[in-house]
Amino acid sequence: MTEYSERIPAHQHEEENQLHDLQLDAVQVITTSVQDDLEARTRLVDLIVAVSDALIWKGTLPAILQRCCEALVETLGVAFARIWTLNEQEQMLYLQGSAGLYTHLDGSHSRVPMGHFKIGLIATERLPHLTNAVIGDPRVSDQEWAKREGMVSFAGYPLLIEGRMMGVMAVFARHPLSSMTLDTMRAAAKAIALGIDHKQIEQEREHLLLTTQQAREQAEDALAARNAFLSSVTHDLKTPLTSIKGNAQMLQMRVQRGALSSPEDIARLQQGLTTIETSVNKMRTMIDDLLDLAQLQAGQKLTFDTGEENFVALVQRVVQEQQATTTRHQLVFKTSISELLVSIDATRLERVLGNLLNNAIKYSPVGGEVTISLSQEQRETSNWAVLELQDQGIGIPAEDLPHIFEPFRRADNSKGKIQGTGIGLTSAAQIIEQHAGTVTVKSEEGVGTLFTIRLPSRL
Ligand code: ADP
Repeated sequence: MTEYSERIPAHQHEEENQLHDLQLDAVQVITTSVQDDLEARTRLVDLIVAVSDALIWKGTLPAILQRCCEALVETLGVAFARIWTLNEQEQMLYLQGSAGLYTHLDGSHSRVPMGHFKIGLIATERLPHLTNAVIGDPRVSDQEWAKREGMVSFAGYPLLIEGRMMGVMAVFARHPLSSMTLDTMRAAAKAIALGIDHKQIEQEREHLLLTTQQAREQAEDALAARNAFLSSVTHDLKTPLTSIKGNAQMLQMRVQRGALSSPEDIARLQQGLTTIETSVNKMRTMIDDLLDLAQLQAGQKLTFDTGEENFVALVQRVVQEQQATTTRHQLVFKTSISELLVSIDATRLERVLGNLLNNAIKYSPVGGEVTISLSQEQRETSNWAVLELQDQGIGIPAEDLPHIFEPFRRADNSKGKIQGTGIGLTSAAQIIEQHAGTVTVKSEEGVGTLFTIRLPSRL
């Protein structure tokens, strides 16, 4: 058997070896690039998954956008990522999420006006701004900062949905961003824009639901207050009417019986007539209050019959009238002034004081002292009559106190226990204010209440 061997020249061997090495290198390069490509694609898939997760998460909009920024930083390895949303009315972009190198939401970039800086320009132009050469880019204004931080690339995308501007998403990176990365970021921007839109619609719906619910509750409260008011008014008008009717019938019977000769008969007759007069006054006060309230509720000012009055005498008169309605309370009028001239509608002021004193009595069911103090106060160039009405009654609970001058408002400790309509204080406040004066209240539940009226007076 002959052995066949071919002699291969030495230089040919070398070439083959080189070719083999080249092939190996090529395979390695291809493998590495395939591996890199695969890694890059995996990162991009990770980004889309993380952004989708953030968008379906049930958090607030800023919390969702913060998660999106974190996803951009973690999956793309960018230096930092930020998302702004647009406030249409203000034409202002508000920073809602920031992750990576900067995580604060305040500072110079927290509010970017439309058309200003690179972010505002992206929003007005509705075009992305992409660069792998941050140094030298005219839109990156702080070049010193970019050099110092080693920034290489910037990618900013408008967040658009069906042509509507929702905001801007932007990243800075210390490495170039491949076209594949940019494509994925564009897709992420679309998803984020959709997420913002969805969240804003959801928030609007929730807000609408809440306001509808609040409006319904307010309407129900107003209806309940009106019903309570109507039944109180009916009751308050019926009570003096019943008293008038009863006394009138009794007087009639006495007249028919001719029982009008003895001094006792005369006294009883007078007593009956006084009761009728008091009841008529009560009804007149209530009707006048109602008429004033109707006028005020219609947005009209009250028409005053103003004249110069001695306020001391007026207060004294009302105190005496109110004292005549109670034996369990002592009304103590304290003043060192004999004359204090005020320019007022006397009938209305009498009604206001009558209401306040009547309240002091009514809301002190166990009796006690009611102090009425009148003094004068000088403030710079103006002079004031200061009237304080202090009782020792049930007081007004702290939660009702700020609302006590509102129409139909009644405190919790008097509603359903002591008869009332909740209109006296409203018209009192309006009348005093229309006299250029003020009325304030201080009260402690179970201790008592102090009303202070200030009216402009003559020196
Ligand atoms: P009314 O007394 O007819 O209910 P007002 O407008 O005069 O209406 O008063 C409103 C509410 O303020 C009263 O229902 C009561 O709850 C509270 N209030 C007013 N004055 C006093 C007072 N002196 N002491 C305690 N509560 C008072």
